[in-house]
Amino acid sequence: MTTPYNGKKRCFGEYKCPQCNRKWMSANSWANYGQECTQCRINVMPHKQTPLEKPKGLDKSDPKKKHPMELCQKCKQLGVYCGSTYSYH
Ligand SMILES: [Zn+2]
Ligand SMILES: [Zn+2]
Repeated sequence: MTTPYNGKKRCFGEYKCPQCNRKWMSANSWANYGQECTQCRINVMPHKQTPLEKPKGLDKSDPKKKHPMELCQKCKQLGVYCGSTYSYH
């Protein structure tokens, strides 16, 4: 297990790049999948993950905001937008 969350659902993840210390958040965060830092192009695992069902007021993500598929490991593996496959589930 490489991520705090280990379930099958999409969750909210917080990432911090160990190289440039850039921080970002994603509402398309998955267990055992990371996202790439846009600057360093290295895969970063989320250090914190929260279920989407329980927002704690920290969720500043915009669901309409474009998901950076080219940075998302899950999208790359699926070849399609990872959030859409979940909704078809
Ligand atoms: Zn970086
Ligand atoms: Zn994705």
